[in-house]
Formats: sequence, structure tokens, C-alpha cells
Amino acid sequence: MSVGSALQIADRMSVVRESATVALGDKARAMKAAGRDLIDMAGGEPDFDSPQDAIAAATQALQSSFTHYVSSRGIPEFRKAIAEKLRRENGLAYDPEREIVVTVGAKLALLSTFLAALNPGDEVICFTPAWVSYEPMLALASAKMTAVPMRLQGGRFVFDPGQLAAAVNRRTRAIVINSPNNPTGKVFTDEELALIVGTVRDANLMLITDEIYEHILYDGRKHTSPAAMEGMRARTVTINGMSKAYAMTGWRLGYVAADAKLVSAIVTMQQQMTTCATSFAQKGAAVALAGGLTDVAQMVEEFAARRDFLIERFQRIPALEFPTPEGAFYGFPRIRKPGADSPVVAAQLLEEAEVAMVPGSAFGPGGEGHLRFSFACAPSDLERACDRLEKFFAGWPK
Ligand code: PMP
Ligand code: GLU
Repeated sequence: MSVGSALQIADRMSVVRESATVALGDKARAMKAAGRDLIDMAGGEPDFDSPQDAIAAATQALQSSFTHYVSSRGIPEFRKAIAEKLRRENGLAYDPEREIVVTVGAKLALLSTFLAALNPGDEVICFTPAWVSYEPMLALASAKMTAVPMRLQGGRFVFDPGQLAAAVNRRTRAIVINSPNNPTGKVFTDEELALIVGTVRDANLMLITDEIYEHILYDGRKHTSPAAMEGMRARTVTINGMSKAYAMTGWRLGYVAADAKLVSAIVTMQQQMTTCATSFAQKGAAVALAGGLTDVAQMVEEFAARRDFLIERFQRIPALEFPTPEGAFYGFPRIRKPGADSPVVAAQLLEEAEVAMVPGSAFGPGGEGHLRFSFACAPSDLERACDRLEKFFAGWPK
């Protein structure tokens, strides 16, 4: 009998596809390590250093042996810093003892929320194109994503309120929103938020709001946390983390703020999955959050300059329609060639032009025909990537 045959892969893995963003990031790293002159615009992570005072606090924590398990809710000082941040920046009052839990990245914040809050067969509405992980995470929780596809209209991604209303049925339990949005760069307007919140209230749903890009906004836009909107606190789950605003992706720290009952269920889930988030990393993150938004503002200023550079440069690439990013740090251009197959184009770009971008099809309905790239990379790389794109797409239909 062969030993190999005893190793089975669970049926549930058939609903979990690999993350296109993470897998392509891994591939790009491997190609670079093998000596290829690749420009990696696949993964979304700021090219800035984590805040120095956070690094100092985490180092100090390591040196003073703060290296043991900590509370499964997160260390008290980080939870307190989160509560103060939510009050100061988002106008939200959450009790750090009962209503906040620290997680291993916003990814685990989302997955444990889905696992703790959804029953098999529940449906959850996502506006698509949507971040690659929502649908597989919902599937892991035996729930189903219902797509409300957005379309490009006048250079902005918009959804049809009729389609949103039609997507709600008796199995619908929640709506997920992500504003500023990965991958489209869309920022939901006050009118759009009011409409979504109205649907959530009328149909007695939960609103799960992924606010990881909240500070990365352009042209004077402001972020609104839906939990602060009238009557929404009790039905909203706010997800956030340290990865994007503080350039702390590798620290793997996120958090959930919600009603105490749901937070307790997430804590129970976390006790079985991870015990707690990394102890010394939380010491650093507490300092970063308390330190305010000066570094964040500088980083966003730099992203805004890169975005403006791209708007200019894409005028020389008529084969691509480049919707202006309103927030986050992603470009999501549309390939004008009719029937363009984004995985094929992305593969050609990788091999021939040595530029790594994520095919739009990975982001669900409405994504096909687009490419997603991160402009949170070195400005010199952006410039070289634009040169290569210009050459690659020369002669393609306009
Ligand atoms: N939400 C969105 C929309 C994202 O783009 C990401 C990507 N990093 C995450 C959540 C997860 O972030 P992290 O786990 O690094 O906190
Ligand atoms: N969120 C980033 C992205 O979309 C990082 C990779 C991931 O977590 O998906 O590229």
C-alpha cells in the first residue's frame, strides 16, 4: 500500500482557490530571486518602512522578554490605543475590554468574523470587482457570496441600486463593503453609503466594513465609518488593521470592533485558531496608533504624487482606460481590446514585459478585461513599468 494515498485533501478545499494576489506576489519574488529584472506591482503593500517608534517599542518588548502568550483579546494597551483611535478618527465609542479584539492581520479579523457570525447557506452581498479573499473566506464559513457587480460609468465604478435591492433575499445576512476599495480605487460616496445602510436596516442585515484603506484618500475626500451612522452601531462590524496605513504588513496585526456578544464569539474562535496575536508586535502597534497620523499623511502625499504621475503617463497608453483612483493605492485599468482575456494578458506582461500585475478576473464579476497593479512601489519602478507598458501595448486597439 502506498503511503502517499493516505494523505487526503478535504472536500472544503475545492471551494478555496489560491489567492491570486498572494500567489502572484510569491511568483514575482521567486522570479526576482532567479535574476529576472521584474517590476513587481502585484501585491498591495506600502514600500515605506514601519514607524521607527513602533520598531523601537517592539524591540524593547523582545529584549525585556515580552515573548509569551498574551490575552486572546489582545494586550490591554493595544486595545486601549485602538479604542482611542476609533473615537478620535472615526467618531466611534467601543469598550476596549469587551468590544475590541486584536487578530492576526485584518485577514483573520474577516475570516473569524465570517466563521463566528454566519451559518451554512447564509448569503453575503459583496460589490464586485472585490478583493480576492472575501469569496473564498465566505466559502470556508459555508456561506455564499452574492455579487452586486459594479460598472465603469464616466470614469467611476458605480452599482445599480435596483441590483442591490434584487440581491437581497431571505437567506441574505450581511453586506460587506470596502471603501476605499481594493481593487477599483473607488471611494463610496455619502449617497452610496446612505443607500447601502438603508438596505442593511430595511432587511435587518449586518454590515461588515473593511476600512483597511481608510486613510489613503485623494483630492480631499473624507472617510466615513458606517458604524457612526444613525442606528448602525449595533449592526456593524468594523474591520481594520496596521498593514496599510502604518506600512506594517509583516507584523500581521488587525482588529475587529463590534458588539460585545459577537466579539466574544470571535475571541472563542481565535482561542482555537491562533491563541492570540504576536505579543511583542502588539507593543509596537500600540505605540504606532497612539503616535497619530503624521507619517500616514506623508505617505499618502507621496501616493497622491504617484497617482498623478500615472494619470499623466496613461495618456500615452491609449490601449488602456485608466479610471482615476479615488483612494487606496491600486490602478485598475481596462484593456480596451474587445474580449481581452486578463489572465492571458497578465501572463504575457509578466513574461514579455517583466511587469507583474494581477488579472482583473481574479476579483470576480466585473473584473474581467481589467488589470490590477499596486502603485505603492518605488517611483523609479513606476516609471520603468510605464515605459514597458507603453511599449507592450503599442498597436493594441484604442
Ligand atoms: N482587506 C483588504 C481589502 C485588503 O486589500 C487586504 C490586503 N492586505 C486585507 C483586508 C488584509 O490585510 P492584512 O491581513 O494584511 O491586515
Ligand atoms: N491585500 C493585498 C492585495 O490585494 C495583499 C495581498 C492580499 O492579502 O491579498 O494585493
